[in-house]
Amino acid sequence: MNTNSGAILVLSGPSGAGKSTLLNKIVDDIGACYFSISTTTRLPRKGEVDGVHYYFVNKEEFQKDIDENMFLEHANVHGNYYGTSLKPVREALKNGKLVIFDIDVQGNAVVTKRLGDITTSVFISPPKLSDLKNRLESRQTDTMEVIDGRLKMARNEIHRISEYDYLIINDDLEIAANTLKIIANAARLKIPGEDINEFSQKWEDID
Ligand code: 5GP
Repeated sequence: MNTNSGAILVLSGPSGAGKSTLLNKIVDDIGACYFSISTTTRLPRKGEVDGVHYYFVNKEEFQKDIDENMFLEHANVHGNYYGTSLKPVREALKNGKLVIFDIDVQGNAVVTKRLGDITTSVFISPPKLSDLKNRLESRQTDTMEVIDGRLKMARNEIHRISEYDYLIINDDLEIAANTLKIIANAARLKIPGEDINEFSQKWEDID
């Protein structure tokens, strides 16, 4: 049985829910991880670096990646395209890493369908829509129009929470971070179907 096989942790939730802050708090306590860097057609925000936060591409380049089957999943979010490249994810899984995705509900649905037996999904939400509005406004990175779009999308996403394994309400940062740490460490212990079969066959062998 391969106890070193990797696993996937999907994090979803509205921008402004605190996903990156929570991850930064627990990164040293969850073992070897690979943070998947998505490809997007959205323009970089102030402070965002190509190859660190996203791979920023134009629509033609994105379409080329779709045509060449480079994505594990891709989706249109707020009118921009976002996609998760398959190759680095495969590599990280092969090396026994916990692969972490920050993707939306559409992406989670695809990843769960394709790789459900090694995937654990978490939806992270602020306690209320008004908290989200305050957080987005105080971040000062988006125009009012963009913020309105994000709030609208958050309203829609909330109705799909039942598609996730866990919900974390990010009210108290310490408690939320500790909960995420526990889930991330447990995600590694999820046993792929084939390993269960192998184990149960070996377990039956009596000398
Ligand atoms: P933002 O533009 O605020 O960075 O991200 C907007 C939304 O797109 C977030 O909900 C984020 O989780 C989602 N997102 C980022 N990368 C991907 C991806 O590769 N695939 C999918 N499906 N969603 C993504």
